[in-house]
Amino acid sequence: MVNRVFNFSAGPSILPESVLAKAAGEIMDYAGSGMSVMEMSHRSKAFGSIIEGAENDLRTLMDIPDDYSVLFLQGGATLQFSMIPLNLMVDSFKADYVLTGSWAEKAAKEAEKFGNVKIAASSKEDNYTFIPKLEYSDFRSYADYVHITWNNTIFGTKWPYIPDTGLIPLVTDMSSGILSEPVDVSKFSLIYAGAQKNIGPAGLTIVIIKSNLIGRAEKRIPVYLDYKTHMDNGSMYNTPPAWNIYIAGMVFRKLLSEGGLQAASERNAAKAGKLYDYIDASRLYSAPAAAGDRSIMNVVFVTGSEELDKKFVIEAREHGLIDLNGHRSIGGMRASIYNAMPDEGIDALISFMEEFEKKQS
Ligand code: PMP
Repeated sequence: MVNRVFNFSAGPSILPESVLAKAAGEIMDYAGSGMSVMEMSHRSKAFGSIIEGAENDLRTLMDIPDDYSVLFLQGGATLQFSMIPLNLMVDSFKADYVLTGSWAEKAAKEAEKFGNVKIAASSKEDNYTFIPKLEYSDFRSYADYVHITWNNTIFGTKWPYIPDTGLIPLVTDMSSGILSEPVDVSKFSLIYAGAQKNIGPAGLTIVIIKSNLIGRAEKRIPVYLDYKTHMDNGSMYNTPPAWNIYIAGMVFRKLLSEGGLQAASERNAAKAGKLYDYIDASRLYSAPAAAGDRSIMNVVFVTGSEELDKKFVIEAREHGLIDLNGHRSIGGMRASIYNAMPDEGIDALISFMEEFEKKQS
């Protein structure tokens, strides 16, 4: 008997059981090849179909326009903090960043090495509990791009709107929000995401970029860091994270077979709504994120007592509810409820919360 827990980790995080089971079933022999995808040449025909299928399915899922390139890279979202300025800060050498959490701060700090960064807005003074309301005039019209962090994994907020940046390319870190709901890709010039939340194992990073922005970096850019290298070589200039792409492809197919991102967003809104409703009605717990800006992927909550928060996390673990601690930088609790979290996980969490609350009164 396999003993699975309800895993609320922010990433690496829960993956669909059917995908794990299929991977397990194919671990000795993928499609009659006599080997696993982990062992297979990335130049083989079998892997060629895997990467092509994954790209096509992602294009269908997210309705990615034809004039965008889809790149399968390594280095995590963190390498994108450097690749973005290296590739896009090439005209005015200026970029505007919106600070909505620690990942946005890190992205901005890295970009400062390559040019002039202006913080267009920040919610830091309010502990990143809300998303600033911005309009075109808040950005420098001559900036090479504007950068936002779509879903703030640590603080549990999400942009409830896409800011109007006019003709300035809009870049977003969608690591913890990608595939949770439909988004209008054409409103962004570049979307990037580490895979280890809604897509697959850590080690794969997806970049969706308007192709006409590629190829403008300085000549001395390291070859791996140039988007052109990857666009020109179908993400196979060097060995791609083949196993991760295979798992990601299965996750994409599963989402497509379940009604695509509209259906996923309905399931996610229902799961997150249930949890927030319970927190809002409870006398013990509260969610610091502003009501209109709440994430449907990372639900952050506190009891108001650090000691009680710690106790909560330990006792939850004893009930098979794993990794409910908030990020080490802010404490409290965080339930990461990505696409693969079943309704039963939310119900089990709420029952535990009720039980824990009763014990305190
Ligand atoms: N951005 C966001 C929004 C994240 O949640 C994370 C990781 N939790 C990162 C960037 C860093 O990603 P990586 O570890 O893939 O570099």
